[in-house]
Amino acid sequence: MRSPSASRIGPRLQAAAWAALLVAAFGAADPPRKIRVLVDPGHGGKDAGAIGWKRTKEKDVNLRTALDLAKRLRETGLFDVRLTRSKDVFVTLPDRCRLANEWKADLFVSVHANYAHDRREKGSEVYFLSDHASDPEAARLAEVENAADAGPPDPSRDGEVAQSILGVMARTENLNRSSKLAATLALALKKKTSLSSRGVKQASLYVLHWTDSPAVLVEMGFISNRRDAARLRSSGFRNKIAKALASGIVEYVRSKEFVEQMRQGSSTAGTR
Ligand SMILES: [Zn+2]
Repeated sequence: MRSPSASRIGPRLQAAAWAALLVAAFGAADPPRKIRVLVDPGHGGKDAGAIGWKRTKEKDVNLRTALDLAKRLRETGLFDVRLTRSKDVFVTLPDRCRLANEWKADLFVSVHANYAHDRREKGSEVYFLSDHASDPEAARLAEVENAADAGPPDPSRDGEVAQSILGVMARTENLNRSSKLAATLALALKKKTSLSSRGVKQASLYVLHWTDSPAVLVEMGFISNRRDAARLRSSGFRNKIAKALASGIVEYVRSKEFVEQMRQGSSTAGTR
């Protein structure tokens, strides 16, 4: 039997214990500010995303889970949370990235559900950026999730090829942090939900490429798979996913990678 405290995340009591860690991260001179998390429910409005079992629309399960995740994060008292959309509206990929970068988000978490023609495919996976897909399925995913006509979020970034040494270092650090965040969230989903885990993958996904903070994209499960879809349609199960993701994010901000990120300044904006 689990103790009540272990089954809940976010009591302020626990937040107090983390405050010391945040003071160390932000520096003793600065009062700790809240950690800015941009939660990005994939698709919306005219873009339904994938349509799965029983005509389940990806945009709907993404939004409901993301709203729940945002609420849970806010309840910890540690996070300032914004959403790229809080209702069923269309938001372009560049706009999603602009929202994150202009706000100087500390973390970017995109919430999606997966689809495969083979309805036996199932399970959760968490992506971070790579210019080379980790496998053919990851390459296919990038085709599905990226809008073909989306240019860079800021025209001045067009043709960003030559990179300063500082910019390259910042990008490498961001990738390391994104990798850590992805691993933490994948493990939380594995431990706290009954979805099978397909682990961490890498792909060239637009929202991961153009956000300045550590960024991950969560594929909660396959809405083309009957069992996964039935779970994603259940508010009780979505609550479990949101709870697992919230606890994973809380765990990530306690990591040395995040403390280091805060020490350096949360955003690498303008350095790539
Ligand atoms: Zn999607």
